[in-house]
Amino acid sequence: MHRLAKARLKMAFALALAFCGPGAFAQSQDQTKEIPDWCKPLPRPEYQSLERVLPNEPWFEVYKVAAGVFAIYEPHQAEEVISYLIVGHKQAVLFDTGMGIGNIRNVTSRLTSRPVVVLNSHTHNDHVGGNWQYGFIYGMDTDFTRKNAKGSREDAQAELAPGEICGDLPKGFDAKTYATKPWRISHFIRDGFRVNLGGRTLEVIATPGHTPDAIALIDRENGLLFTGDTYYPAPIWLFRPETDLDAYVASVKRLAALAPEVKLVLGAHNIPVAKPSVLPDLVAAIEAVRAGQGTIKPAGKGKATHEFGGFTFLMSAP
Ligand SMILES: [Zn+2]
Repeated sequence: MHRLAKARLKMAFALALAFCGPGAFAQSQDQTKEIPDWCKPLPRPEYQSLERVLPNEPWFEVYKVAAGVFAIYEPHQAEEVISYLIVGHKQAVLFDTGMGIGNIRNVTSRLTSRPVVVLNSHTHNDHVGGNWQYGFIYGMDTDFTRKNAKGSREDAQAELAPGEICGDLPKGFDAKTYATKPWRISHFIRDGFRVNLGGRTLEVIATPGHTPDAIALIDRENGLLFTGDTYYPAPIWLFRPETDLDAYVASVKRLAALAPEVKLVLGAHNIPVAKPSVLPDLVAAIEAVRAGQGTIKPAGKGKATHEFGGFTFLMSAP
């Protein structure tokens, strides 16, 4: 999750509910027609050079970003979350399952006939929404993962607050009952775990910090590094109670050390492709921010953005 305006919007949503009672949602849906600021610049120019596939999907936009790698982007919700389907000869890994608003299972079935197993970059609600639709799900061996696998409603509902949706929700989507559905963890994994997809191998790199269960995935043969919420080209959320800043710095250093063997960095929000040089730059930026450098601006109750070197971090207010 990474939206700056979210706390303010949450408050507005709570007020709408308080004033309007159970009928509030109809009103909030009308408000979404006003086109929120965040979606006015969409589509982002970086998408022009990407190959779009399945153009008739109503909720998702799907792009082929490398051989056998599809970015499954959700541009109609403010998180602009991106899940990735990575296809081998034998099976495919779905790295995150998105918001659970559209039917991601339908998308992956259209992209591959091979069995699809799920790995999550971490278990915040916007990355696990479609987990329940899949039969095999890896989970990091952490209490945070086990707790989130039970599902929840509050974070999911906040994603529908006024200003969070751009365009139409999918046909048949029920906003009132929207929640992160529980899922069963099929197999617990740790740092260094490998999945052989047939003709390509993905290795799990534990990157705790944003959450205790955050991971990156590396496809060494093809030079691809999937970074989840440890890096994406938008304000990076580092303010929630589950965030550990010391661990985050150690994790971004570990990823930066891989930069020389990486061709493409694939983050989990807004834009799917970045250059590997972004990783050492990220280390420099977070270290500078922690040393008190950069520009600090208040960003809602108890939070502040810290900007340095083109990066923005959303952190607890100093
Ligand atoms: Zn997250």
